[in-house]
Amino acid sequence: MATTRSLLERIPKIDRLLSSPAAEPLRQRFARPRVVEALRVAAEELRAQLLAGNGQEVLEEDPVQRICWAAQALLESEERCTLGRAINATGVVLHTGLGRAVLSEAAAQAALEVIRSHSLLEVDAESGERGNRQTHIAPLLRRLTGAEDALVVNNNAAAVSLAIGCLAAGCEVIVAAGQLVEIGGSFRIPDVIRRAGARLVIVGTTNKVRLADYAGAITPETALLLRVHPSNFRVVGFTEEASLEELVTLGRERSIPVMDDLGSGALVDLSQYGLEAEPTAHASVRAGADVVTFSGDKLLGGPQAGLIVGKREILRRMAKDPLMRVVRCDKVTLAMMEATLRLYLDEERALREIPTLAALTVAPKVLSARAKRLVSLLEGAGLTVTTEPGISQVGGGSLPGERLPTTLVAVTAPEISPTDLARRLRTSDPSIWARIHRDRLLFDLRTVRDREVEEIAAALRGIMAPRMNADARR
Ligand SMILES: *Cc1c(COP(=O)(O)O)cnc(C)c1O
Repeated sequence: MATTRSLLERIPKIDRLLSSPAAEPLRQRFARPRVVEALRVAAEELRAQLLAGNGQEVLEEDPVQRICWAAQALLESEERCTLGRAINATGVVLHTGLGRAVLSEAAAQAALEVIRSHSLLEVDAESGERGNRQTHIAPLLRRLTGAEDALVVNNNAAAVSLAIGCLAAGCEVIVAAGQLVEIGGSFRIPDVIRRAGARLVIVGTTNKVRLADYAGAITPETALLLRVHPSNFRVVGFTEEASLEELVTLGRERSIPVMDDLGSGALVDLSQYGLEAEPTAHASVRAGADVVTFSGDKLLGGPQAGLIVGKREILRRMAKDPLMRVVRCDKVTLAMMEATLRLYLDEERALREIPTLAALTVAPKVLSARAKRLVSLLEGAGLTVTTEPGISQVGGGSLPGERLPTTLVAVTAPEISPTDLARRLRTSDPSIWARIHRDRLLFDLRTVRDREVEEIAAALRGIMAPRMNADARR
C-alpha cells in the first residue's frame, strides 16, 4: 500500500504540468481552462491505472510528457465531430444507419451556396415581395411527375401524417390488410392513422384485396382510400390487389380522395436498367391518385425529405395546415432537393451523377475492376485476400427482393478475429463498414467510391503494420 501511495505522489501536479515545455503546444492551440481540464483528466486516468497496479512505466519514462500527450489526444478528440464520414463497404446502397442516400456533387454545391450566403429562400426577386419556399421545388416536381401541384416536407413519414390528418381527421380511412406496413421504429401505418385523428378500416386479407372489398367498406364517414406500397417486404404466391386505377374510379364515383404512399418511389423507371420495377410517382399521378407521397432519400437519391404531389385543391389545403410549419424543410434541404431534381431533367445525367442511381446501375466489370484494385493495394500487407461473386442489396426499405450481383473482396488477418478487425476499421477515421460472413470480412465495392478504395487499403495496412514490423524483428 505504501508503495502505491509513493507512486501516486510521483504524478506531477497540475501547475507543474501546465507550465511545462511539454504543455506549450497545448497552451498555444487550446484555451487555458480546457487545457487544465484535459491535464486533470489525463492525470486522473494515470492515477486510476496505478491504483489498478498498472502504468508504473509511465512514471519511469517521462510522466510530464506522457500526460501532456494524453491530454492532447483528449483535446483533439473533443474537436472531432461524432457525426463523421463513413465508408460504406457493406454493399447496402441505401444503408439507413450510414445515412441512406449519398448526394450528388450538384446537391453538395447547392447546399454550400445557401449555407455560406443569404439566399432567395422566401422572396420573389421580380417583385421584391415575400415569396414561398415551395416555389423552388414545385415546378420541377410538376414537370417530373405530371402532377398539378407539389409540396416538400421534412420526410415521407411527415408527408403521410400531414396528408392523412388533413384529409381524414375525424373520419374513416380504408386500407388493405396486406398494406399495414411498419416502416421502422414506431412508424406503423395503423398508428399513424390513429395519431392523425382518423379511424382505420381494414379490408381484405394479408394476401388478397379486391375492389369489392373497398366498395363494401365505404360509409358516409369514409374520407380517404389509402394505398400503401409494401416497400420493405413482398407477399408472393396466391395474391391479388385492386389496382390504383380501379381505386381511383371507385373514389371518383363516391367522391372520396385516393392517396398512394409509394414509400421509396422513383422518378425513373428502374426496370429499364435491369432492376425490379419500383412504382414511379409519374405512374401514380397518371393513374389519377389525388395525393402521392414518397421519400427524398430513398431511391430518389436526394436529401431527407418527403415529397407530396397531386391535385391542386388538396395540396393547397395541406399547405395551409398548421402542421405544415412543423414539418417544413430548411433551406439547405430545399437547395439540395432542387439541385437533385434538376439532374432528373436529363435522365442519363441523373443516372451518372446521383450516387444512389450510379451504385444501383454500375456495370459488373467496373465492380470487378474496383475489387481487383483493392486486392492489389493490399498485396504484401500480411492479409489473406481473395475475390468472389456476391450479392448487394438496395436497402432503405426499397426493392427488398432485388439481388444485385457484385464482386466481393474477402479478407482475413492472422491473429486478428474478423470481429476485432471489423471493429478496428469502424473506429478508424474515416469509419469503415464491411460485412462479416463465415469468419471473413467482406468488402462490397458497389457502394465505395474510387478514392475510398485507397482509404480502405491504407486503414487495413495501418492495422497490420505493427504486426508486420514485429514479424520482421523476430
Ligand atoms: C420509408 C417509407 C415511409 C417513410 O419515409 P421516410 O422518408 O423514411 O420518412 C413511409 N411509407 C412507406 C411505405 C415507406 O416505405
